[in-house]
Parts: sequence; C-alpha cells; structure tokens
Amino acid sequence: MRAADRALQRRRGVRLAWLNLAVALWMLALFNGSFWAALWQAAGGWQAASLAWLASLPVFALAWVWLVLEALTWGRLAKPVLCSLLVAAACVAYFMDRYGVVFDRDMLVNVAETDWAEVRDLLSPALVGWVVLFGIVPAAAVARLPLERQGWRSLLLEKSTATLLPALVIGLLAAGFFSAYASLFRNHRDLRLQFVPSNLLAAAHGFAKARLIPAPSLERVAADATRVAGAERLGRPLVAVIVVGETTRAVNLSLNGYGRATTPALDVRPDLINLGRAQACGTATATALPCMFLDLGRSGYRDGLAYRRESLLDVLRQAGLDVWWIENNSGCKGVCDRSKVVDAATDAVPHSCPPGGCYDEVLLDALWQRLQAVQRDTVLVLHMKGQHGPAYYLRYPPAFERFTPVCRSNALDRCEPQAVVNAYDNALGYTDHVLDWVITLLQAQSARLDAGMLFVADHGESLGENGLFLHGMPYALAPREQREVPLLAWLAPGMQQRLGLDSDCLRRQRDSLSHDNLYHSVLGLVGARVGVYRAEADLTKRCAPRAGQLIGPSVFTAATAVSLSTGTSDQATRPRAFPTQR
Ligand SMILES: [Zn+2]
Repeated sequence: MRAADRALQRRRGVRLAWLNLAVALWMLALFNGSFWAALWQAAGGWQAASLAWLASLPVFALAWVWLVLEALTWGRLAKPVLCSLLVAAACVAYFMDRYGVVFDRDMLVNVAETDWAEVRDLLSPALVGWVVLFGIVPAAAVARLPLERQGWRSLLLEKSTATLLPALVIGLLAAGFFSAYASLFRNHRDLRLQFVPSNLLAAAHGFAKARLIPAPSLERVAADATRVAGAERLGRPLVAVIVVGETTRAVNLSLNGYGRATTPALDVRPDLINLGRAQACGTATATALPCMFLDLGRSGYRDGLAYRRESLLDVLRQAGLDVWWIENNSGCKGVCDRSKVVDAATDAVPHSCPPGGCYDEVLLDALWQRLQAVQRDTVLVLHMKGQHGPAYYLRYPPAFERFTPVCRSNALDRCEPQAVVNAYDNALGYTDHVLDWVITLLQAQSARLDAGMLFVADHGESLGENGLFLHGMPYALAPREQREVPLLAWLAPGMQQRLGLDSDCLRRQRDSLSHDNLYHSVLGLVGARVGVYRAEADLTKRCAPRAGQLIGPSVFTAATAVSLSTGTSDQATRPRAFPTQR
C-alpha cells in the first residue's frame, strides 16, 4: 500500500471528539425530557429579563456532557464505553419519563438486587421499542463507525482541545451568570438526579464504592444475645410471625380511613391492633428491608450494611429461638444470610403460581407447615410480594378483582388514573385476605402455642399523584405515600398475658411509630435482649410495665383456644383451600 493511500485511509475515520459531541447531543435531546421540564421550572420559566441565562442552560449542559464523555473515552475502550452508556441511559430515560422516578445510587442498588420476576413485570413492547430505537440502534452505529487512527501525540492534542474547550465554556458561563447558577445548584440539588448520563455515572460510582471495596469482616452484634429470665420456661412455645409487606401505602387501608373497603376482613377483627401509619426507613426494598432488621435505625443505616452486620435474625437465633425466613419476594437483601430460608414457591400448587409470579397465599401453606412442627420458641418472617408494581393486576387471583376497570399494563401513565388505583386496591384487598388467614392459622394453633403477628410494609407507593408512579424517590424528596406504611399487630390472649401487655396502650401508639421501632419491639415481644437493644424504642416496654420480667405460665387455656378456632380447624387442616374460601 502506498504511503498516500495509507494517509487517505487514516483520514477516512471519524474523530473521537466529534463522536463524543454527537453522542452528547443525542443524550441531551432524547434522554432528558424530565430533566428539561424540571430545569425549566427550577429556572423560573419564561422571563424576558433572564433570556441570556436561559439560553446558556443548554450550552452549559452540552459542554458538561461532552466533557464527561471525553474523560471516559480512551483508546480501544472508547467505543464500548459509548455503546454501553447509550443503552443504559436509554433504559434510565425511559423509566424516568414514564414513571417520574429519579435515578440515584439506591435505584441502582434496586436494579442490581432485582430478580427475573420483577424485570418481567417492567418489560413492555414500549420499553423494548424505546431502548432498541434510541439506545441499541445508535450504539450499533457507533460500534460500526470507523474511528480515525491517530498517533498518541495527535490523540493527546485532540483530547486536550476537546477537554479544554467545554471546560472553558462551562467556566465562562458560570462566571458570567454566577449568582443564577449558584442559586440553581444550591436550591435544586435534586436536578442532578434527573440529568442523564450524569445521574447514571454518579450512581455507578457510588454503587461501586460501596460494593467493590472489600467488605470488612462481619460486624458482630448478637454475641451477647440472651433471653429475659423466665422467657424460656413457660411450657408453651411462643411464636412470633413478622409479616413484611411489599409496597403497601398506609393511606389506602380502609383500617386507616380510606374511602373504600380495601381491608374488609381485618376491619371486622376486634382483636386487631392497628398501629396506623409508620414512617418507613427507606422508599425502596433494597434500603428499607435491611434497615428494618438492623439495630441502627434510619439515621444509622448505610447501603449494603445488612451484608456485613448481624441482623435481628442473628440476635434471635443467638438468644436460642428457632428462626425462619419464608420468601415470596425477591430475596432478603442480606438480612437472612445466616438463617434458615424457605422459598414458599417451591412446594406451591400450580394455581397459586401463575406465570406472573406466586400469589402470597403460598406463604400460608409454608406457615402452616412450620406452625404444625413448632416445638420451641420460634420467629417466622413471611416476606410478601404484596402490591409490588407496576403490574399490580398480577398480584391477586381473579376472585379478588373487586374494583374495576383495572389497569392491565405496566405503562401506568397510559391507563386511566382510577384503573391504576383499582388494580392497586385489589392487590391490597388480597393482602388483607392473606393477613386475616395468618391470624386464623395462629388461632387454630392456640391450644398449644402463644402467638403474635406483626405486619409492616417496607415502603409505600406513588399512584400517579403529581405524575409520580412507583417508589424509590430519595427520602427527602419522597411524597408521604412512599414513606408511610401500615403497621398492624395481633396478639393471642396467651401472648398478651405472658407479657402483661395493655392493648389499649398499644392502640394509643397509633401513627407515632416508625421502622426504627421494629427491631427493639420484636426483641420485647419474644423476651430477648442484646447489647444494642434500646428499651425506649420497644413498644412492649411502653405498654407492659412488667415487660423484661416475663410472667409465669400462661393461664390461657386449651378450651379458650378451641373456642377461638371453632369453624376454622377444617380449613386449617386443608390449607391449600385458602384462596377460594372467601
Ligand atoms: Zn419493596
């Protein structure tokens, strides 16, 4: 090949700097719909006096994205980096525009910890079409485009120019409109969570920092866990069932004054203790669930901590209780790592597990099996699928479709708002049925067990209020529908007597509690103690002056138990019939 031909071939490729600029323009134009809308609002909208400043905003944004891309693209890795960013940013943009969510590290943690069932719920032709058209097609074009081959000197020169130029633009604009930019960045810090691809890169950086740095050895908490004197010598096994709800917002329970009967079975249970709205520890499963089962509370919780610190379950086990985690969701996020775990779907009958995922009734089967085998004090955690969205309509059997019409799409913004709420409320009505059955099963065993149930959801949900769907907003920005979850208790008479609990006092705690109370109250309920236990957060301590010195054998008799379970024992021996009984 002649030297002239080689020179020509070299010139034929595209310069990386121009490619980066083109990708930056693509991202700004197609992936930042919610960002531009939020920015327009934050900047105060149309004002003739601030025309120049408004006009500078897209230039500033373009310079910034170009600068970021220049920093990330080097040598042979340039094209793979650009292609992955295009596809990932297309996915992020789709969810931000469709569901009004913002993207931060917690959201990335959710993505990393999701499972196939959750992914399947989110998949739709619209999502696939969008990602193919605006992510994969341009990524394929980038992959095929020949880049100009350059020597390292020419490359360095181009990199320096392509870095200095946008940096200069940013510097000049920031200096020229200093107070406007300073005020924008100070007062609207959340904008950065909507700016693609900056939000994606910041989340990836935070995630990698938290996860890839070698984890220190397990933080011991449980070593000094014990039972309160007398707790183990009562003759009758104690069983505490903690039901962890999923995506259940407190405001939608008829128990909490909602306008339609979403909790008809629990509404008529006089022995239910409704503790009202509790403040969740986070707005997504990956944060709230581990936080609930750690001793540190919301203020002390950090991402990934449950994987490197002993949880409530470790403490209970160390104190001598039998501990089981029964799963019908996407895993326990580290909380049950050292405990016995049962996948409720494993033995489930086919009609309980349609293609959309197993209904929560599979938890009842698993619970019933464990209850019959209980020989010593036991804690059972049931992890529900609850109202996990956006496919709320897949969370309940057809018989529970009480409110219609129902949104049968995961593109919630395309459905009538009422149809979204109807599907959600139907799923909530089904949770009511499952909880009612948990209590029924505990009652059926009350001749030999002292039992109690606590129900609390991990976080709430937005159902289209202010254009917002799903959950996972940063806590400070999240609406109360995402932060407030229901908290319910049911304690068998034997359990109440055991602890000397005053149920009226418990009822007076309504609306005053948070996830921070769960850890310490469970310890109180089962009569266990550990160094990190805080009595002031323990509900049973507040409402049982004698808690901590458990009183003697329960005077609750087998005869009372039989009268309570009358009419239920038949179903109780045939738990597979649960879903169709009501
Ligand atoms: Zn959740």
